[in-house]
Amino acid sequence: MTKVRTRFAPSPTGFVHIGGLRTALYNYLFAKRHAGTFILRIEDTDRTRFVEGATENLIHALDWAGLVPDEGPSSGGDYGPYYQSQRTGLYQKYARDLLDKGYAYYAFDTPEEIESMREKVRQAGAPPPKYDFHVRLNMRNSLTLGETEVQKLLDEGTPYVIRLKIPEDRTFDVEDKIRGRVSFNSSQVDDQVLIKSDGYPTYHLANIVDDHLMDITHVIRGEEWLSSVPKHLYLYECFGWQSPVMAHLPLILNPDKSKMSKRDITSLDDMPSGKVDPDVASYIKKGYEPEALINYIALLGWNPGEGDERQIFPVHDLVQEFSLERVNKAAAVFDLKKLDWINSQHISLKDTKELVERIKPQLAGKGIVPESDEYLVRVVDLLKTRMSFIDQFVTLGEYFFCEPEQYDPVTVKKRWKDDSVKLILEFIEEISKLEMFDKAGMEQALHRVAERNDAGAGRIIHPIRLAVSGTGVGPGLYELLEVLGRETVINRLKKGIKDIPKMKQ
Ligand code: GLU
Repeated sequence: MTKVRTRFAPSPTGFVHIGGLRTALYNYLFAKRHAGTFILRIEDTDRTRFVEGATENLIHALDWAGLVPDEGPSSGGDYGPYYQSQRTGLYQKYARDLLDKGYAYYAFDTPEEIESMREKVRQAGAPPPKYDFHVRLNMRNSLTLGETEVQKLLDEGTPYVIRLKIPEDRTFDVEDKIRGRVSFNSSQVDDQVLIKSDGYPTYHLANIVDDHLMDITHVIRGEEWLSSVPKHLYLYECFGWQSPVMAHLPLILNPDKSKMSKRDITSLDDMPSGKVDPDVASYIKKGYEPEALINYIALLGWNPGEGDERQIFPVHDLVQEFSLERVNKAAAVFDLKKLDWINSQHISLKDTKELVERIKPQLAGKGIVPESDEYLVRVVDLLKTRMSFIDQFVTLGEYFFCEPEQYDPVTVKKRWKDDSVKLILEFIEEISKLEMFDKAGMEQALHRVAERNDAGAGRIIHPIRLAVSGTGVGPGLYELLEVLGRETVINRLKKGIKDIPKMKQ
């Protein structure tokens, strides 16, 4: 069997789009699933749209996401160069080949001449004008001019483009892996420019030549390229090459179902309602874990199977399970809340030691020095299931390192009752007597106080939490107290019963 070779072929024209990252991911997963090769090819022949730094951004985003290409500008490989701008000689050669075989022609029309043709067609009330079989015989090209005239124009250095001579009334069929059979009639297709007047190829020619020369077996890309398929199929036919398998991925939509497109905002937190940021860099900046973003975008268009409710997939599971058959045809709607949830799930799956190393600089930035690594490990273990982002640790867990200076007024109002001081005093007495200051001992102590006072556990739990942490939410109370330790707990409870009642006055 031929070895699977997929490619991600972005044009460096700006930021890395979430949809682009998904295309890269699906190409990566498909290649890995089949023990194949994942290639990065930079399609930078459109010099007018080239953006400085965009290629570096792309490579950085793929590295960040862990989608490291087996071949590409940074990894090298036997099929390079992997920048199309360094392969222009090749495209010229193949374009000449098409000219020689009569599949392509020189066109010398100026932009004004083309506009005037369009104007005439418009006036005649015909459908939107294209440079195609209807008009090509009325234009200035090597189909209408004699050989000597053409040679003369070329010798004089007259600007020209090379166009593909699309045949009239031909049907092109593709068996798309996602959409099934799709048919196109050539009358919908214009005589595509293959080589532009600046000598650079257009996307269409370069893409086909490179997919062939790089032995690409599967083309997996966004749905916006589906309409180009007839041109591509015809190019394969003209060259006598076999077309790779094709799979066109569904669109990704904003929550309001509009297209996820460009934007002019500076952060993810400023998006207008119903929209999400399409720029991958914003997600990196906001602190999403790479494996969470990958997990989430894998599910934007793919699912593990009917009735399979799993949502959390480490990348090796995605590699095991990914298949093009399970990619949906319908557009996917981006859901930021789900992404946040997936992020929190991946944080909780992380090794505590890794989290500790990442959290230390955050604490240091706040001037917090944990009493020991062991203590920090215990706190992180307790909080790692409660963070949506790792940088929330200091906010969520500050009270593990510093005595609370304030008490959340809403919780005070709701949870601090007339008998809170009395109940806490009794609890202090109970826990002072405990042989082991552990979860089980504290739970029993609390229940003894509750019973004696004929109070529900909640009536004691909430004021205790408030006094020791200053907040109304957090991890399980007994675990929290155990980690804080007896001395700290008793000191904080004593301070709480002194300070909190003042807030009620
Ligand atoms: N360069 C094209 C892009 O920017 C690649 C399309 C394809 O994968 O064929 O998306």
